[in-house]
Amino acid sequence: MEISLEQSYAAALPELSVPWRAEVPPRPELVWLNEELARELGYSPAWLRGEEGLSLLTGQIEGTTAQVYAGHQFGSPNPQLGDGRAVLLGDLVDTRGRRRDLHLKGAGRTPFARGGDGKAPLGPMLREAVIGEWLHALGVPTTRALAVLSTGERIAPRQGVTPEPGALLVRVAASHLRVGTFEHATWNLDPEVRERLVEYTIRRHHPGADGPLGLLEAVTRSQAELVAQWMLAGFVHGVMNTDNMALSGEGIDYGPCAVLDVHRRGAVFSSIDRGGRYAYGNQPGIALWNLSRFAETLVPLIGGDPNLAIDQATAVLEQFEGWYLDAYARGLSRKLGVVGDRGTVLALGEELFALLEQEQVDHTGFFRMLGEGEAAGLFFELEPYALWAGRRDALPRAEEPMGRANPLYIPRNVHLESALRASHLGDLEPVRELLDAVSAPFERQEGLEHLEGPGDGGDGFMTFCGT
Ligand code: AMP
Ligand code: MG
Repeated sequence: MEISLEQSYAAALPELSVPWRAEVPPRPELVWLNEELARELGYSPAWLRGEEGLSLLTGQIEGTTAQVYAGHQFGSPNPQLGDGRAVLLGDLVDTRGRRRDLHLKGAGRTPFARGGDGKAPLGPMLREAVIGEWLHALGVPTTRALAVLSTGERIAPRQGVTPEPGALLVRVAASHLRVGTFEHATWNLDPEVRERLVEYTIRRHHPGADGPLGLLEAVTRSQAELVAQWMLAGFVHGVMNTDNMALSGEGIDYGPCAVLDVHRRGAVFSSIDRGGRYAYGNQPGIALWNLSRFAETLVPLIGGDPNLAIDQATAVLEQFEGWYLDAYARGLSRKLGVVGDRGTVLALGEELFALLEQEQVDHTGFFRMLGEGEAAGLFFELEPYALWAGRRDALPRAEEPMGRANPLYIPRNVHLESALRASHLGDLEPVRELLDAVSAPFERQEGLEHLEGPGDGGDGFMTFCGT
């Protein structure tokens, strides 16, 4: 049953990682195993639960590495980042022929740990698992958790004074190539490495792309589509630093992220994001800012007249808005249950979201109620809503039922926080229940009624950087 992992990244780009072994956890226990994902990768869940499986899931295998990268954090360049508390276990080709990375977070200090302890607390690892499963169930490209384990250790708290249970997250990703990987190669290594990095990234993620400019275009388009889906889902990533932007087009590194209750463009849930740089409504602009940093690493490789290369890269970046709006309008039509041209749908959306914000209406709840014909009940002032609804009702109806585009279950802040608090105290049932709910988010599930609504206390909510 053993599937030997390959090390295609280290083989192609030995400059971008160092051989590194995960610490041996004192008393590892499997807290949650993603059986569906295990089978998709070609592993039998029973094998993974056994002794050999546990060795794999705790990183006690040959060939593992820690990857190095750089990045812009909150707008400022940091030339030296990397897997500070993680190792890349390796990659494999899954049962559907896709190459995927297995990565282990919480594996102890690495040469890139800087001041950190290399540890990961249980709550944030479960949070990353929940968010990944939910986004995946919505059809949004994302990294996913294969497993969460507790290590048997108590680790220093990220906040407060009570020690926390230590944990490991086994993450599956299309790859761990980031904008920050290119920044590192540009700032710190020979240009030849960057050329090899371009080739590897194209081969792995965007095989149709023609050279650096083609790669920029493919990554720009996939990010435009990704962020459009986040916006429709009401998702706030929280730390869109360039080292947290994957070149595969998957969302990655869910730290202080959260989902909107009340619709609010300025919503910020991360305690470290004091300036609101990564607020809900800023996400498309930030994605483009990050892509501009990516473009800067590619421009010198485009060749020919340097000014022309800059113009060409700029022309690609200028297409971001169009791709974003196309994807956003397509998704919004589905959510509204109508068919309409892009301009009509976007205008309808703009007006709707202004109304939701003004009347403090729940983002997710609104679309479910709209599908059930009961949304008017959410508004104090009826007339503006009635005018909007009249315009929406005048459009042809989509064939797809609205319930397929609008989730009932989302990892709402109150529910997620209370489930994580319980897990901290040793009760894992609430988080397993939440995982069940968000993994099948469109259909009402018996016994999960308490997870449907926004609950109390959603809005003043903050996630601390206990990632
Ligand atoms: P993030 O923005 O949370 O994805 O992390 C930024 C950087 O900090 C990454 O390079 C992480 O590997 C590193 N890091 C985060 N937490 C720790 C920790 N406890 N120990 C060592 N490195 C860490
Ligand atoms: Mg990160």
